[in-house]
Amino acid sequence: MTRKDFDKSKRIFLKKCLALSSGMVCFPRSVFSGEILTPGQDIYKREAMFQEETPRGIMCRICPNECVLKEGEVSQCNNRKVHNSKLYTMAFGNPCSVNIDPVEKKPLYHFFPGSRAYSIATAGCNLVCLNCQNWTISQTSPDKTMNYDLMPEKVVTEASKNKCRSIAYTYSEPVTFYEYAFETATLARKAGIKNIIKSNGYINPEPLKKLCSVADAANIDLKSFNDSTYLKLTGGKLQPVLDSLKIYKDMGVWLEITNLIVPTWSDNIDEIGKMCKWLSDNGFRDTPLHFSRFYPVYKLEQLPPTPVDILKNAAKVAAGEGIKYIYIGNVPGNEAADTICPSCGTTVIARQGFRVTLNNISNGKCNKCGFEIKGVWN
Ligand code: SF4
Repeated sequence: MTRKDFDKSKRIFLKKCLALSSGMVCFPRSVFSGEILTPGQDIYKREAMFQEETPRGIMCRICPNECVLKEGEVSQCNNRKVHNSKLYTMAFGNPCSVNIDPVEKKPLYHFFPGSRAYSIATAGCNLVCLNCQNWTISQTSPDKTMNYDLMPEKVVTEASKNKCRSIAYTYSEPVTFYEYAFETATLARKAGIKNIIKSNGYINPEPLKKLCSVADAANIDLKSFNDSTYLKLTGGKLQPVLDSLKIYKDMGVWLEITNLIVPTWSDNIDEIGKMCKWLSDNGFRDTPLHFSRFYPVYKLEQLPPTPVDILKNAAKVAAGEGIKYIYIGNVPGNEAADTICPSCGTTVIARQGFRVTLNNISNGKCNKCGFEIKGVWN
C-alpha cells in the first residue's frame, strides 16, 4: 500500500468512526470503499424535478403524496426540502447503501439470470410500511445517514469495473431518489448497462413514464388488494400502484411483481384471489408473481412468519387464474423458486437461494418443448 492509499484508508476509517459515534444511521454492507461524505454535506446539489409553484407552497409532483412545502420544510419522504424558494432533492450522489447483488435477490427471475446488479440506495421513502425490512434507511433522511460520495458517472464506472450487467435502484425507494436514479440510468444506458427499478410503485404517471424511458426491468411490490389495508399497513393507496403496473407493462419494461403476505394483514385468501383475478384480467398472466414470506420485523415484530401453507395456497389460487410463472420466496430450500415451463412442465431454471444451478432455456425457449418462456434472457 502506498503512503497515499494509506492516508486515504485512514481518512475513510476515521470518518466512519465519527459517523458511528455521532449516532448516524449506518447500513452495514457495502462494496464501495470510496470517500464518505461529511454528514449533511452538500445536500443541495440538484433541484427537484416535477416541482410546481402553488399559492400554498411548492408542490412535488413525483408521487401521489403530492407534498406542498414552504421554505425550509421537508417532504414526507424525507428527501426533499425547499431552499431559497426552490425544491431540492437531498438524495443525489450520496447513497448510504452500495452492494453487488445477484439479480435474483431483487427478485428478478426472468431477467439475465445469474447476473450481477450493482445496487444503490439513499435514505428516505414515501411510504411508512409497518413491516419495512430496511426501516433504518427508509424511515430517515440523507442528512442523517452515513453516505458515500458516488455521483452518477462513478456509479456507472464502478458497475462496469465490477462486471455488473445492471444497476439496481433498490433497498429504500427509488421514487424518492428519482433525480439520482434517472441521471444514473441515463448514463448507464449509454454505457450498455441495464437499469432495474425495485420499487413500491407509488409514483405519479408522468414521472413514471419518464423513468420507464431509461428502465429495463422492474420489480414492483403489490402489498395488498384492499384499500384500507394498504393505507393502514403502508400509508399509501392501492390504485396508484395498480396504475403503475400498467404503465411499466405498456412502456415495455420487463416487469415482475412481489406480494409479501403478512399474517393477519394481507393473508386473506379471498383477497389474494381478487388480486390474482385482477392481474389475470389486466394482461399480467405472463408477468412473474413472487409470493414472499414475511418475517417479524420493525413494527410487526409480534407477528409470526407467514405459514408456508398460506404461501402454497396463494400460489394455487394464482395458477387457477392462469398466471404462468409463480414463485414462493424467502422460504429456504423450497422448489417453488424454480422456473417451470408452462407447456411441458420441465424445470427450465433451477435455483438454490439466489444461485442459478440449471438453465434449460435457449433463445428464450424451453430446451425440451420449444415453448417461449417470457423474459429477457440474453
Ligand atoms: S416523492 Fe416525496 S416529496 Fe415528492 S410527493 Fe412523494 S413524498 Fe412528497
